Amino acid sequence: MQIIESVSELLTYVENGKQKGLKSGLVPTMGALHEGHLSLVRQSVKDNDVTIVSLFVNPVQFNNPKDLETYPRQPEQDFKLLAREGVDVVFAPVESEIYPEGFDRNRKFNLGKVAEVMEGKHRPGHFQGVALVVNRLFQLCRPTRAYFGLKDFQQIAVIREMLRYEDLDVEIVPCPIVREESGLALSSRNMLLSPAQRREAAAIHAVLKESVDFAKSHSVEETRRFVVERLDAKDDFKVEYFEIVDGLTLLPVEEWTEAALIVGCITVYVGNVRLIDNIQYKQLKAN
Ligand code: AMP
Repeated sequence: MQIIESVSELLTYVENGKQKGLKSGLVPTMGALHEGHLSLVRQSVKDNDVTIVSLFVNPVQFNNPKDLETYPRQPEQDFKLLAREGVDVVFAPVESEIYPEGFDRNRKFNLGKVAEVMEGKHRPGHFQGVALVVNRLFQLCRPTRAYFGLKDFQQIAVIREMLRYEDLDVEIVPCPIVREESGLALSSRNMLLSPAQRREAAAIHAVLKESVDFAKSHSVEETRRFVVERLDAKDDFKVEYFEIVDGLTLLPVEEWTEAALIVGCITVYVGNVRLIDNIQYKQLKAN
């Protein structure tokens, strides 16, 4: 496994692969890797001739300086984990490689309405920052496929929207959410929770799962309130938003019959750690 820090070395590697006609997979991450990230990596290794994993804590997508400062970083451990997975290249650049002098960090992408709701509303500028870094990584790595976790459900919709307007031919591969045995969705931020908070945080998935049953005999709004009230009742919990949306447009639905794919997306503060998760109420059928 090669660890590449500079753009010029990466470009040489990528060009070489292209000339050999190799299919490549890219897994963009911010490091502090866990089994969720590794599931994306394994899928990419399976699907492609070569896999590039990027490790870069992208300052442009953080709207809260404190969050950026406390975001966990453990590159040496990440390298060890990735070396066992058959990864070909880890791209671990410093900020000036991703955003060199003169690079337009304020470039705005057309991300449509999917970027305006939920995370878009609560984290101003976040998705523009995500689009900026993912676009840059796509330009540099020119992957055949790129792997993203469904934990960040809205992020996948936003990246697809970004691709519609960019001259990039990348297949987006969404991957299932990986959870702890307790049900808590794996997240690099989980390590910022105290042991007690981490145990309590399992309630997020437990309540969401319960709400799928509840939904069978209740309206969308009753289901929404069920989740918010149950979680807000817990010490140290504050639901920032919980929205039940059409899985394609990400706009709130009022009736269960309104869309073929219906997803509940939640953000909860446990203490001062911001956790996100989601659950499907209704799934698209093959026919
Ligand atoms: P991050 O390092 O948090 O930016 O995440 C990098 C990628 O890993 C994103 O596509 C995330 O959606 C994905 N990811 C993070 N946590 C999980 C998880 N628990 N299950 C599946 N994918 C995940």
